[in-house]
Amino acid sequence: MYIPGDREVSVLYKGKTGKYNVYVHDIEYKTLDKSLYPESEHNYPDNCDDTKYISSPGVESMSITFSKQTYLEPNIDFIYITTNNGTYKYTGNLGGKTLTFNTDSLSIRLVSDSDANYYGYSFDSITTKRTIHVPGEQATCTTDQKCIKCEKIIQKAYGHDLVPIEVEKATLTKDGKTEGEKCSVCGVITKNKEQFQE
Ligand SMILES: [Zn+2]
Ligand SMILES: [Zn+2]
Repeated sequence: MYIPGDREVSVLYKGKTGKYNVYVHDIEYKTLDKSLYPESEHNYPDNCDDTKYISSPGVESMSITFSKQTYLEPNIDFIYITTNNGTYKYTGNLGGKTLTFNTDSLSIRLVSDSDANYYGYSFDSITTKRTIHVPGEQATCTTDQKCIKCEKIIQKAYGHDLVPIEVEKATLTKDGKTEGEKCSVCGVITKNKEQFQE
């Protein structure tokens, strides 16, 4: 059942066996390149307020594992991790700890007071998880591209690219009018001169 692809599932219910089909998405796990890992100064300085960032656009979650040395003055110095869903606060011994966030980017802000400095933080690994969807028809101005298996939106509709259209030609004595608008991609007219006449 956990092997990716189309699967038939049998269910026994009140002595009868029913079958239904499910699609199990493939899942991609990636360990980001170590050169991308942010880290604090070691030891971090007094009155530090330093923010570093890491992102991997499009992933569903990121798991970060702090190095063994990771340590902040307990309940005095803090790191604040901000994700797509909120900000979380940590202090003290974080050595070897793994945190998982449902986000594709995060920032790490280290704030220290005026004494007692420790190692700060670095990471042993940062891994990401991404579900591989099966793309349906390309997105257009007005329709999203969705996964054909689970309907998840892969690419939102782009929206029209509106450009002015000249609805009244200029003459020798009058300027042309350009109140009209149409989409340069699909050609739809969204406004015309009539709508603007009182
Ligand atoms: Zn899907
Ligand atoms: Zn359009």
